[in-house]
Amino acid sequence: MDKVKQIIKDKGQRFTSQKKEILNVLQQKPQTVFEIYTAVNSKKNHMNKVTVYRILTSFLELGIVNKVQFNDKEARFELSNSGHHHHLVCEVCGLIEDIQLPENIFLKEVKNKTDFKIKSHSLEFFGICDRCQ
Ligand SMILES: [Zn+2]
Ligand SMILES: [Zn+2]
Repeated sequence: MDKVKQIIKDKGQRFTSQKKEILNVLQQKPQTVFEIYTAVNSKKNHMNKVTVYRILTSFLELGIVNKVQFNDKEARFELSNSGHHHHLVCEVCGLIEDIQLPENIFLKEVKNKTDFKIKSHSLEFFGICDRCQ
């Protein structure tokens, strides 16, 4: 949180309580604008959709969050401080877990087999989490 706070302040922007709340919500898992909006409004203070959207857009510009997309094609926002990783997505309860993989062999293989210039990749696993099994 302190690092993010610094990034925001370095850009001459204020670290508001609203920004802090959205960051707290994002700490749990990647979420859609609607989920974030619902979560911040489940507490007593009200934040309108425009504000939520504006804050998320500024977070995107500052590189604080990334957009990720799963099977349902809905854009989710994820904190970008956790480094490169992949996701395990539960199709029953919607749980999203991060997983880091040793992927060098796999990336080398792609490089050997094609001239395609890869800039990035994403890898998601869909299934049923242990609680839902
Ligand atoms: Zn990867
Ligand atoms: Zn589940």
